[in-house]
Amino acid sequence: VIGTALVSIASGAVFSLAEHLAPMRPRRRLREAFAHELPYIVFASMLPALVLGWLGATLRIEGPVGHAPLVVQWLVVLAITELSFYAAHRAMHRVRWLWPLHRLHHTPDATSLDWLAGFRKHVGEALLHGFVLLPFLVVLAPSPAVIAFNAALGIAMNAFIHANVRVRLVWLERVIVTPRYHAWHHAADPRAQRANLAAKLPFLDRLFRTHHDAAGWPDELGLGAQP
Ligand SMILES: [Zn+2]
Ligand SMILES: [Zn+2]
Repeated sequence: VIGTALVSIASGAVFSLAEHLAPMRPRRRLREAFAHELPYIVFASMLPALVLGWLGATLRIEGPVGHAPLVVQWLVVLAITELSFYAAHRAMHRVRWLWPLHRLHHTPDATSLDWLAGFRKHVGEALLHGFVLLPFLVVLAPSPAVIAFNAALGIAMNAFIHANVRVRLVWLERVIVTPRYHAWHHAADPRAQRANLAAKLPFLDRLFRTHHDAAGWPDELGLGAQP
């Protein structure tokens, strides 16, 4: 819990500074952004993470990956987190009755998409991601430290991909999701909004043919594609 909180504070400080130094779009005041996103940070990010951590610590199941080297355990956890996120995210963009859970995440427009808005999420969406991921974690039972490390990385990456920063990271975009890559997922253009679904690894979009290959940045952000 302490490690995850420290990572949240550190990534908040880093991305606030980056947004101040090189903003891509008009910015909102930090205090305003905090006031708006705080309920989502608490109820859709911190609370589910605490419940997941508590469940992991309480269940204490001996799983098949629990004795593997930590790096191997992390690669397994990363793979299942990314695949389960991709599947749930794709379903929310395709299935009409799941869309209301995810609609909220696509409400930021050009002046409100920033690292804090990345946490804007319906509690139902957080629960859906938890329900899809939890069975895998229970069966494989990796070390709680590995789960905590992956969760902290997830928080930092979530802040990074939503950050309002003008950065060209062409070489990096092939390996990890970047602010420009994810900005296309927040584009008002429906074709772009149904694409670039991956949270960390863009190769998943290429593998499942949901990659939106466009140069530059989207002109307009906001709600675009309703299933
Ligand atoms: Zn989405
Ligand atoms: Zn997003």
